[in-house]
Amino acid sequence: MKITALHLHPIAVADPPLRSSYGLHAPYAIRTIVEIETDEGIRGVSETYGGERPLAALRAAEPKLIGRDVFQLTRLWMEFEAQAAEAGGDRSQTWMVPGENPIDQHARTFAAIEFASLDAIGKALNKPVCDLLGGRARDEVAFSAYLFYKHAGGGGLGGDEREDEYGEGLTPEAMVRQAKDFIARYGFREIKLKGGVLDPEVEIETIRALRREFGPAVPLRIDPNCAWSVDTSVKVGEALVEELSNGGYLEDPCATIEGMGEVRRRLLAKGIDTPQASNVAVTAFPHIPMAWKHDAVQIVLSDPHYWGGMRAQQQLDHFCHVFGMGVSMHSNNHLGVSLMAMTHAAAACPHLTYACDTHYPWQTARDEVVAGGRIPFVNGCVRIPSKPGLGVELDYDQLARLKERYEALPYRKRDDEAEMRKRVDPNWKRILPRW
Ligand SMILES: [Mg+2]
Repeated sequence: MKITALHLHPIAVADPPLRSSYGLHAPYAIRTIVEIETDEGIRGVSETYGGERPLAALRAAEPKLIGRDVFQLTRLWMEFEAQAAEAGGDRSQTWMVPGENPIDQHARTFAAIEFASLDAIGKALNKPVCDLLGGRARDEVAFSAYLFYKHAGGGGLGGDEREDEYGEGLTPEAMVRQAKDFIARYGFREIKLKGGVLDPEVEIETIRALRREFGPAVPLRIDPNCAWSVDTSVKVGEALVEELSNGGYLEDPCATIEGMGEVRRRLLAKGIDTPQASNVAVTAFPHIPMAWKHDAVQIVLSDPHYWGGMRAQQQLDHFCHVFGMGVSMHSNNHLGVSLMAMTHAAAACPHLTYACDTHYPWQTARDEVVAGGRIPFVNGCVRIPSKPGLGVELDYDQLARLKERYEALPYRKRDDEAEMRKRVDPNWKRILPRW
C-alpha cells in the first residue's frame, strides 16, 4: 500500500488561559492534522505539533513519502536518522522542552507519519492500531485529571470565545473545585497538578487540600516544570512526603538530570523515597542511562509524538523496565486524533502503569476534528474501540473551520512567555529557578 499524497492541515483550537512555569496559554493552541492518501484508496490520519517549524519539516519529508509503502517504515526511520546525524547536534543536551528541541525534530516528524501509516494499515486489515503493535496489554487506558492554575476565561477570541467551564483557579480551594468538576465529568482516579506557578507554599497547600478532599486512594502528582531550586525541591518533597505517596510523584521539580539526582539523594538521606518523574530532563533515549546513573528519574513520561512514534514508545517502555524505571505519559494540548494515538500506544506498553496525562478536557466539542464528536472517558479511561486503525475519522467541515482560525492567527509558534506579558504582567520573564 503506497503513499500517493500527503495533506497537512494546520489548525487552531481554543484554549483557556492556563498557567505554567513557561507562562500563559494563548487563546488558541496550534496543531497540525496530517493525512496520507494511498493507492488503495485508504487514508491514514494523525495529529502533531502545530506551527511553522513542524509544518516545514513535514513538507520537507514529502518527497521521501510519495511512493513509500506504509508497511516499510524502518528504512524511512534510517533516512531520518542519517539526516539528523548529518545536521549534527548534541543529543545529551537536556535544555529544550519536549516538542521544540531541533535535535528531535526528525523523531516528531517520523511519529506523525508512523501514526498515519498505522492508521491506514489498520483500516486495510480491519484491525485496531494497538493490535498491529503486537497486541494490547489492556483494553482501556487510564488518564489523570490534569489540573492547571488558571485565569478567568475559556479561550478563543473576538466573538469566538468559549464558555469558562471551570472559572478562575488561583487558590487551593478553587483547585479542589476544579478537581471535583473534572472527576464528576470524566471519572478520573488520579490527579496531576501543573505547578511552578504560585509560591511553593501555596502549591503545597493545594496538594494537601486535594489529599484532604480525595484521600490516599487518589494518587497525586505535581509538575512545576523546573521552577524550583534543588533546595526548594527538597523542601517540597519533605512537606509532601505523605501526599505524594501511594502512586504519586514529583515531576521535574528542578532543572537537569544532575539537579534531580541531587534532590533524590537529599530526600533519600531523610528517608523519603518519593519517586521523581520527568519529561523535561529526559526526552530522548540517551538521557535514560544518564538519569539512571544519577538515580535522578524513577518514572519516565513517554510521549509517542516526540519519542519517535508508537513503536519507539514500546521500545522506551521496555528500555525503562530494563533500567528499573516506571513509565507514564506526557501530553500537550491535543484533540481526539492524538488522544487515540496516545491510547493505542499506551495500551500496547505493558509497563505503562500510571494514568497518562491529557489536556483533552481543556478543549471543547466546538474544536473537535473527529467525526461524531468528542472521545468519551468512562471512569477516567479511554477504551480501545473495535473500529479499525486509530478508530477515528475526520470531520472535514470542522477541519475547515479550525484551519480558517489558524489562518487568522497572528502567531505561528507557541510563546507562553509573550502571552503572559501581554495579558498578566508586562514585565514577566521565565526565570529558572524562580523559587
Ligand atoms: Mg511535565
